[in-house]
Formats: sequence, C-alpha cells, structure tokens
Amino acid sequence: MFPENIFQALAEGDILAIMFVVLIVGFALAYLIDSHNESIRDGALTIRKICVTGQEILFLIIRGVLEYSPIGVFALIAVAIGDIGVSALVPLGQLILVIYGAVVVMLVVYAVFILAMRRSPLEFFKAAKEPMLTGFVTRSSSGTLPVSSRAAEKLGIPQSTYSLTLPLGATINMDGTAIYVGASVVFVADAMGTTLSVAEIISVILVGVLASIGTAGVPGAGIIMLTMAVNTAGLSMAPVALVAGIDAILDMARTMNNITGDLAGTVGVDASEKRRERKKARARQEA
Ligand code: ASP
Repeated sequence: MFPENIFQALAEGDILAIMFVVLIVGFALAYLIDSHNESIRDGALTIRKICVTGQEILFLIIRGVLEYSPIGVFALIAVAIGDIGVSALVPLGQLILVIYGAVVVMLVVYAVFILAMRRSPLEFFKAAKEPMLTGFVTRSSSGTLPVSSRAAEKLGIPQSTYSLTLPLGATINMDGTAIYVGASVVFVADAMGTTLSVAEIISVILVGVLASIGTAGVPGAGIIMLTMAVNTAGLSMAPVALVAGIDAILDMARTMNNITGDLAGTVGVDASEKRRERKKARARQEA
C-alpha cells in the first residue's frame, strides 16, 4: 500500500498505493490551506485549483469517451450472446439480484442504526422515501441533495447539521458503490473462470471502499472505479463491458443506497449533537 516510489506506482497503475499517497497529500494540503502564513496558503490554494481543474479535464475526457460506450457495449453483448447464447445473460441477472439483495440488507442495517439512535425507523423511511425514489430514478447523489435536505427537515434536523453532512455524504459516502464494485469484480473473475484469493478479495474491498470515497455523485461514475478495482485484481477488462450494459440498472440501486446512507448518517450526527447539547445544559444547571 505504501509505495517506495510514487512515480513508479503511477506508471504501473498501482491504485492502492496511489490512493494512499493522494489521501496523505490531500490531508497535508487541507492543513496548509488553513495556514496563517499567507504565501503558504496562497501556494496551497493554487495547487488545489490545479487539482480541481485537472479533475474537470479528466471528467470531460471520460464523458467524451462514455458517449461512445453504448455502441461498444452493444457490440460486446452481441458477440457474447452470439458465442454463448442467451445463457450469457444469466450471470448478469445474478449480478443484478446480488446487488439489489445487498441493498435490501443495507436498508435493514440502516433501520437498526436509526433504532440505535433512538429514532423510529418507520418515521425515518417515511421521510427518506422521497429522496430514495429521486435517487433511484436520477442516479445522482448530488442531484438529489435538495430533496434529501427536505427529508432532513421533515426529520427535525437543524439546517446547521444537514447543510454539512448531506453534501459531505453525497461526495464521500458511497456505500452502495462500494458494494457494486465488490460484487462486480467477483462477477468479472467468474466470467473469466478465475477464483480470487483471500488476499485479492481484501485488496478489492480496500480499493472498492477507497475508490467509492472518490466517486462523484453523478450517474455512472461508479463504473470508472470498477475498472480500477478490476485492474488491481489483475483481471481482464472485457467482462466490464458486459457490466456496463446493465450499469444503469445497478446504478439505480446503488445511488438509492448511497442517499439513504447519507440521511442515516445525518440522523446519527444530529443525535450526537443533541446528546452533547443536553450534556452541556445539564452541566450549566449543576453549576
Ligand atoms: N451514481 C452514484 C451516485 O450518484 C455514483 C455511482 O455511479 O456509483 O451516488
């Protein structure tokens, strides 16, 4: 995970090593942006600007490439069905079932979490229903933010809390995407007739979680992270094209999962804030 030479890691596409370095550099940069020294702060802000612009350039190029993906995906699926027959679609159906099943499990996990926060899961899901549906059809965590904010208000969460947690969640909390990356890498390995070792599975989980943090809250962003994880596991990219063919269906479920997680996290932060306020009030009363 810790590269001896970052340039070598970049050249070899060693994703895990690159991600760790990026995280550390990101933290250091955030620290410098807060510096009291004006010239250091200005320099750090310039580097930040370069990074943001670099990201925009990359997104633009990827969007351009993705414009042509329907043609490629159509051709690849046609070849797979032509070679193997309609049975080639069965594993894809299984992948859809696995991911939707995992999302249902996650909803149960959220319900338990909400209960642990001493709130009613029923009340939570009643408020979350609208953003969940919006996320399901728009496939965008960021695009659903206004609807999620309304749901947080319905849950009685103050704006000072949700205006921080929801945008943060829409940017870095992508648990549905992490599930999708993990399940899809196993699908790709299966399609190639290989079995992943325990070490490979662990590194796929690590890459999936870290990559999901860096996934943009826009439709289809997760597939870029999937290619990274497939690369880390040393698997072929060809089956990824098959996943791309059904990516919209998978994206609906994972985005809904991501959004529910953001809202559940917001309830968690609100509960801890209220606990802190109560403690403070009690201390004041005693004094
Ligand atoms: N569409 C997802 C979201 O907005 C990201 C992804 O593609 O996994 O949360």
